[in-house]
Amino acid sequence: MFRIGQGYDVHKLVEDRELWICGIKLPHTHGLLGHSDADVAIHALCDALLGALALRDIGYHFPDTDPKYKGADSKLLLKEVCRMIRERGWEIGNVDVTIMAEAPKFKPHIDEMRQCLADVMNVAVDAVSVKATTTEKLGFTGRKEGIASTAVALIYEP
Ligand SMILES: [Zn+2]
Repeated sequence: MFRIGQGYDVHKLVEDRELWICGIKLPHTHGLLGHSDADVAIHALCDALLGALALRDIGYHFPDTDPKYKGADSKLLLKEVCRMIRERGWEIGNVDVTIMAEAPKFKPHIDEMRQCLADVMNVAVDAVSVKATTTEKLGFTGRKEGIASTAVALIYEP
């Protein structure tokens, strides 16, 4: 038995914020604005995993009106989502994350991002794909106003 889910998230780029993506802090002039650490890729991934079991979305489980999640490390949210999946008797097969951003350069950080997500989800690193693309300077991502991310997750019943 298999199920799949997909997720999408966007955060605005602003000055004077740290840039956290896929659980690691990236050197950049701007960071993402949000109630938590605004890790856009982890949020998309959480929504993909929740979506696979039709468990609503990240905002439903971790509301941004709750002071508990102010500045929250999104890795903890991902860990909790994985716990919810396994509690229901499912295991994570593989995940595939795409980040859409004009800057910074992600290439040097991809392996560290994959390893970080694999560690948080407690899966093998070859089950975790992270890709980054520009949008050819088009749209809000192209104008560096924000960063978007999509994710797909496949889960299975062992
Ligand atoms: Zn988000």
